[in-house]
Amino acid sequence: MAGFRQELVAVLGKPVEENPTQAMIEAAFAAARLDWRYLTIEVAPAGLGHAVRGARAMGFRGLNLTIPHKVAVVEHLDRLSPAATLIGAVNCVVRGGDELVGENTDGAGFLAALRRRREPAGMRCVLLGAGGAARAIAVELALAGAGRITVVNRSAERGRELGALLGEHVAEVRVEQLGGRYLVPAGTDLVVNATSIGLYPTVDAEVPVSLDEVAGRALVADVIPNPPETRFLREAAAVGCETLDGLEMLVEQGRIGFALWTGVEPDAGVMRDALRRAFAASY
Ligand code: NDP
Repeated sequence: MAGFRQELVAVLGKPVEENPTQAMIEAAFAAARLDWRYLTIEVAPAGLGHAVRGARAMGFRGLNLTIPHKVAVVEHLDRLSPAATLIGAVNCVVRGGDELVGENTDGAGFLAALRRRREPAGMRCVLLGAGGAARAIAVELALAGAGRITVVNRSAERGRELGALLGEHVAEVRVEQLGGRYLVPAGTDLVVNATSIGLYPTVDAEVPVSLDEVAGRALVADVIPNPPETRFLREAAAVGCETLDGLEMLVEQGRIGFALWTGVEPDAGVMRDALRRAFAASY
């Protein structure tokens, strides 16, 4: 008999109302015929410890963490994966026996999407941003053997911090402050917008970067999942660059989390369609 108890996973955040992950993961549960539930739960910073202890007591199989819990959750876990340790943030928790293990699938999701197009080893990369997403992507690019990473960030201090973190893991690290318009140098293989510029509803905001020197050559990626076709990617495509959108990254990070929780490989097409529908419904 199948029984009436479901396995549980949840995303904890505040705000979390607009988080579309439930639509993506529950569609994949259904497609895989798993009687699991994915809950979207608002948790204030002061309640995070209680929430994680509650999830532990109730036998949750996993968690996602979003704003503002990705760093704060670390002290409530038993151990972290090597990448999450280096990044200093956790967006995915996996229960293994009695242990809660912190993972970071943001950067790994980006890398999985990137690897479908090009091999990251030796790549000369320009990364815009030095926040959580940029940090996760930079660390994974470094671990994958990128040849050079240039961090370009508005706040010089945050940029320097990320540069220092990467120092011993990449052959060459450069840090630039984003002032006016940053000219991506010739010879760059990969340009990533890892800032929040262009996220719905400010879809017309411009990423202050010139691709003139890398037109037709660089792969240009954006972390913004909504809308997937950002102004930045449209402009990159218009100058002949291949593009990689943030929806693909979001699906890949979800796919990695799903496989870690369930041991089952999900249907990525089902996940992508569910996300597109969720975003369309939110406009
Ligand atoms: P953070 O707040 O940690 O970092 C934001 C970054 O954007 C900082 O580097 C900040 O610079 C920069 N920034 C914001 N506004 C501007 C601006 N007007 N001009 C220049 N720089 C700016 O956010 P996260 O890193 O967590 O998230 C960033 C984006 O990544 C979000 O839009 C999120 O949706 C997306 N994301 C996508 C994922 C996916 O799977 N597709 C996964 C995770 C995140 P400064 O340091 O100077 O403030």
